[in-house]
Amino acid sequence: KKQKKKPTKKSSIDFTKIDPALLPTVIIVGRPNVGKSALFNRLIGRREALVYNTPDDHVTRDIREGIAKLGDLRFRVLDSAGLETEATSGTILRRTTEMTARVLAQAQFSIFLVDVRDGLQPLDYDVGKWMRKHASGLHTIVAMNKSESLAERGLLYAEAGEAYSLGFGDPIAISAETGMGMVELYETLQPLLEEYVRQLPKEEQQQDDIVSETEEIDETKLPLQLAIVGRPNVGKSTLLNTLLQEERVLVGPEAGLTRDSVRAQFKFEDRTIYLVDTAGWLQRAGQEKGPGSLSVVQSRKSLMRAHVIALVLDAEEIARANKSMKHAEVVIARQAIEEGRGLVVIVNKMDLLRGRQNSALYEKVIEAVPKEVQSVNPQVTEIPVVFISALEGKGRMAVMNQVIDTYKKWCLRLSTARLNRWLRKVMSRHSWKDLATQPRIKYFTQVKARPPTFIAFLSGKAQLSDSDMRFLTKSLTEDFDLGGIPIRIMQRSVP
Ligand code: GDP
Ligand code: GDP
Repeated sequence: KKQKKKPTKKSSIDFTKIDPALLPTVIIVGRPNVGKSALFNRLIGRREALVYNTPDDHVTRDIREGIAKLGDLRFRVLDSAGLETEATSGTILRRTTEMTARVLAQAQFSIFLVDVRDGLQPLDYDVGKWMRKHASGLHTIVAMNKSESLAERGLLYAEAGEAYSLGFGDPIAISAETGMGMVELYETLQPLLEEYVRQLPKEEQQQDDIVSETEEIDETKLPLQLAIVGRPNVGKSTLLNTLLQEERVLVGPEAGLTRDSVRAQFKFEDRTIYLVDTAGWLQRAGQEKGPGSLSVVQSRKSLMRAHVIALVLDAEEIARANKSMKHAEVVIARQAIEEGRGLVVIVNKMDLLRGRQNSALYEKVIEAVPKEVQSVNPQVTEIPVVFISALEGKGRMAVMNQVIDTYKKWCLRLSTARLNRWLRKVMSRHSWKDLATQPRIKYFTQVKARPPTFIAFLSGKAQLSDSDMRFLTKSLTEDFDLGGIPIRIMQRSVP
């Protein structure tokens, strides 16, 4: 049958060469039982899915993630089925929890599945409404699943009209079960995914981050992508000029001055530093109305382009306030960590606190900032804080040394042999309260760098407790000097 033919190879981009963490991400949404899991399984084939446990409102939900293969396309695919564990008619849709927003924020595209065999249900329209409200930043494709049942009877046409009324453009007819419509899905996704990949910085398109024990990549040869973020007037442009060592960016005291597309490249020692365009970011994030709002989705997207985020704060403001970080700054710091970026905090305008009359304020700032930065990001220890005066042109060395140090740690790769020697040592350090009944860590391996991501292979079905996870993270940070780096640990059961 014509509809069953396999997608052909015609992409001009080799998706297999893209860092898996940077592949375009597609989330499958839809009411229960439309076939989300069936489609997810078809797309990832026999490749392995990672399952995240995301505790949310004290309920643990599973989000499945895998690398999808569709013809010569590769993309990250997320199955949202776990988001609706309590789904009785309608209730999920009101659950616009922060976690859902976090999951949505990882994706650029969504496949909105409906079941043509049942016809459209009120719940499908509710999902549509919900998507428009919370995922308007995503490009959504409606797919009518289980179409094989109607195709034979020539009934698809009417259903397509109905699915079109959801308001996400022309639907495509597929069958997750039989594979019908995969060519159409390919043809719809291909230009979108290619366009997404093209706008990634060139260097990112070619990296391969899968750890190979024999082939050590020299990370110094890879360009570092740095984002300088902060509220208006903290001195971002001034710092940028110091880093670039030439007047290239507009500097002025007026808040809100638009400098949208500052993008530059410079050399520091023997490295190429790529400045990622995120100007105006914090303004947007500060205005966010709630989880899932477009601003958050967009700011996260630009955040993902940076390896290291330098968050600039204003020393004079801190001296006058009783808090070091404003809400928007806390939001950005947390997002940076959640997205697995390296974080460096820069306290600028220290020159304004010089002189004897200011010494108490100076001390206050030096002491308070690191403490507060740490307390709003408890899951990462030893976040670096640098104190500078960009106006005086001082700080280039201090900032760049810290940025590069953070980047190096972010790129760290540890061999499985070394990690397991370490594991044997730390196992005795911790009182594994539940170990009698709970799983044992059989071995530990790093699956990915940038940021360092590990898998703990466990015997038995149970999961490590939060306190065990905290212990592992803390030990890794201390023993391998990974301060300021968001480490990820996943768990997997082995028989
Ligand atoms: P989810 O709740 O959206 O993840 O839906 P599932 O993937 O669990 O599928 C729900 C039911 O629909 C299961 O019984 C599947 O076997 C069935 N199903 C999924 N895709 C198709 C399809 O393309 N055609 C038919 N006839 N049934 C399907
Ligand atoms: P941006 O909005 O974050 O890009 O901030 P700008 O770089 O435009 O700086 C805003 C104002 O702060 C300008 O008037 C700068 O001259 C001033 N400024 C920037 N850095 C410093 C600094 O280190 N010390 C002092 N005293 N002023 C600074």
